[in-house]
Amino acid sequence: MRAWRIAFHEDPELSNQETHTRDRVVAALGELGIEPTTYDDGFLGVLATIVGGGSGPVVALRADMDALPVTEETGLDFRSRNPGRMHACGHDIHMSALLGAAAVLAPRRSEIRGTVRLLFQPAEEQGEEGGALPFLRRGCFDRPKVDYVVGQHVDPIVPIGSVGTRTGAAMAAADRFRIHVRGRGGHAAAPHLGPDAILVACEIVVGLQALVSRVRSPVDPVVVSVGQIHGGTRHNILPEEVVLDGTVRTFRPETRVTMEAALRRRVRSIAASLGAKVTVEYYAGYPALWNPAKATRIVAEGLRAEFGPGRVVELEEPLMGAEDFARYLERVPGTFFELGVGVPGRPAGLHSAQFAPPEAALVHGAAALLAATEALQRNPP
Ligand SMILES: [Zn+2]
Ligand SMILES: [Zn+2]
Repeated sequence: MRAWRIAFHEDPELSNQETHTRDRVVAALGELGIEPTTYDDGFLGVLATIVGGGSGPVVALRADMDALPVTEETGLDFRSRNPGRMHACGHDIHMSALLGAAAVLAPRRSEIRGTVRLLFQPAEEQGEEGGALPFLRRGCFDRPKVDYVVGQHVDPIVPIGSVGTRTGAAMAAADRFRIHVRGRGGHAAAPHLGPDAILVACEIVVGLQALVSRVRSPVDPVVVSVGQIHGGTRHNILPEEVVLDGTVRTFRPETRVTMEAALRRRVRSIAASLGAKVTVEYYAGYPALWNPAKATRIVAEGLRAEFGPGRVVELEEPLMGAEDFARYLERVPGTFFELGVGVPGRPAGLHSAQFAPPEAALVHGAAALLAATEALQRNPP
């Protein structure tokens, strides 16, 4: 696992560009005597199946493959060799732990209660279509039909050696919007001659926060953030157009729909009141991730047996981040859990240039996947 992890970590690749990574996964599976399926249409996922001796459920285990546009500052011996690219979200750990679990399972196929499906999925970080949806379209849950799906993510908030689980809402739906505000460009000293796109854009940024506080229930978490504002060329010229880019995070499907409609309405009415023209583009990203109660309980029991009762914590709060693992859970039960990589004095978070999870996470990650598989295979759906 250490060697695999170093090879993945040194050569990080962005979403839908994971060709070397894919080739490494294929080679590693080959060494383990597992026949991988790859795709010749440009999709970079790798699928493999370990058929067990027993007739228990089919459990799919998923690892994501992509890295981020971050310049690594960890000082590790095996730091990224690709400028401006880094495994800053720990997907190198996820892949290596899944290969480690496969290395344990492959030679013991005959003893396994059911079948295990391995999913190495590209493009988790991509944010819109992602990699799970194209993988599902290519039949990654078919032949044999998958009964359960399990995934994990390294988490610096959970201490190393522990695992965090959560029933119900665990991660948010993440949608994106882009707003074009069109005013009348001209001299900044004569703003009365036409709608000022800058002023309208500012009103919109402030007005959107009223949606968060007044459109949905205060106990139903919602985030609206504008992350980019582009417009203007000089201090004394009013631009013709200003573009706003932002994200909307929700949990309940009905809130997700309400927020889109409310955002469109609010933006139009603010622009109209100030005489500006506006267009709103709204892109659906990943849905919210809901961990079903029964499968999550079964996995948590398996993890408790493996890690010790005090080392499996129920997470108190959902995360406002998003994960396309949610797409798998829309189809079959299963769970997505947090693999602890937290170490005192090493506070760097996910997507940070200093993120350096301890190596012990490899063994914990593989053990967690094996424990989850075993527990689910003892409990047919
Ligand atoms: Zn990430
Ligand atoms: Zn990630």
